[in-house]
Amino acid sequence: MKLPIENRKYSNEITEDDDGERVNIAGWVHEKRDLGGVFFLIVRDREGFAQVTLHKKTIGKELFEQAKKVPRESVVAITGTVKGEQKAPNGYELIPERIEILSEASHVLPLDITGKVGAELDTRLDARFMDVRTERTKHIFIIRSQVLKAIRDFLDARGFIEINTPKIVSAATEGGTALFPITYFEREAFLNQSPQLYKQMLIASGLDSVFEIAPIFRAEEHDTTKHLNEASSVDVEVAFVSDKEVMKLLEELIASVYSKVALYPGISKLNLQLEVPKVPFRRITYDEAIELILEAGEQIEWGEDLSTPAEHILGKTIGELYFITDWPRAIKPFYAQPTEGKDTCDAFDLMHPRLELASGSQRVHSYELLKENIESKGLSAESFEFYLNAFRYGMPPHAGWGLGVERLLMSMLEIDNVREVVLFPRDRRRLVP
Ligand code: ATP
Ligand code: MG
Repeated sequence: MKLPIENRKYSNEITEDDDGERVNIAGWVHEKRDLGGVFFLIVRDREGFAQVTLHKKTIGKELFEQAKKVPRESVVAITGTVKGEQKAPNGYELIPERIEILSEASHVLPLDITGKVGAELDTRLDARFMDVRTERTKHIFIIRSQVLKAIRDFLDARGFIEINTPKIVSAATEGGTALFPITYFEREAFLNQSPQLYKQMLIASGLDSVFEIAPIFRAEEHDTTKHLNEASSVDVEVAFVSDKEVMKLLEELIASVYSKVALYPGISKLNLQLEVPKVPFRRITYDEAIELILEAGEQIEWGEDLSTPAEHILGKTIGELYFITDWPRAIKPFYAQPTEGKDTCDAFDLMHPRLELASGSQRVHSYELLKENIESKGLSAESFEFYLNAFRYGMPPHAGWGLGVERLLMSMLEIDNVREVVLFPRDRRRLVP
């Protein structure tokens, strides 16, 4: 085989109008069907399926035997002539003149790609390269790619600058989660829980409106269907605006992503009717949330964070995407701006009826107040010096948020387990593949 395969066509680039044309395709042997006198090879590529038809009488014996012998999921390159055939996928079949086996697959497969035999998530994740060959999983990851592109396009159109901040950091936890320690030459370092401190420092740099799409690392010990130890976060930070403007930015971004994904034909493979949410999303205060939770008979005290059952009660009552605003200061990080004269702060969470999607706030931009807040959380201002310094020489007022990519995907696609929307998820038990 000479590479690249000359004029290679995807299965969906060939139609019945190409009747009589000679074409080259390449892909995986998806299925083999033996009808005695006729043998079918269904070849799968990224874009779909092609039927390769071998008539025993007219095709050479060698080619016929070769096709019969090739194990399923082997990789083949086929040269053949197109023949219109209504009953075949895309309305054509290929009469082969050459079948080249580029890579022969082992006979016992770890997964059934045709979808006839289901598999546990763990089995699928162990053989993820193969699981992505199934239609449903493939479309999830194509949609993931489209979601990321839609986010970049949306922010790019609004003048945002994409940044990349370090994932290896010295201590300085923001609270809320444990960090993963790593060995950094002769010192201890950590994997970053979020780009929070760095994106804020870049507001002092004058870049003005910045965003980052990158991994965040959290040593969450619990095993839930919505927590990963390595997740992807879209982080946005904007100068000279308040929490109200970045909430609007967030809801418009979500609506824009939904409307892009709704146009993708592969969405039908997920048995999904995607409804684009209407903006503005509903806003309730933390106090109103507490009232609704208590009314439903669930225990909660003012000042506590919302438990998963409490989130579900709110989700059931509200039934659509919504914001919770005006959180108690004590359960939000030190960088959230306190509301004047109250024990709440200008922080918000974006909620899907099933789970939290994003958290954000107006940020403290006064050096003195920030230092005070850090200390009042029992943290050492010294270890935050690199961050605090950025507030001493001209820091604009600013606001921002962090949105979980996997949470957005799983809620939008009605998928139960967050691991389904990550190619190679990392959780308490899983470090391989
Ligand atoms: P939760 O309370 O649901 O654990 P959080 O409030 O600790 O989340 P934030 O620190 O607010 O999370 O992070 C911002 C967003 O990043 C979250 O709203 C969520 O979408 C996402 N995120 C945070 N931690 C994880 C995780 N362990 N796995 C997947 N996504 C996460
Ligand atoms: Mg949060």
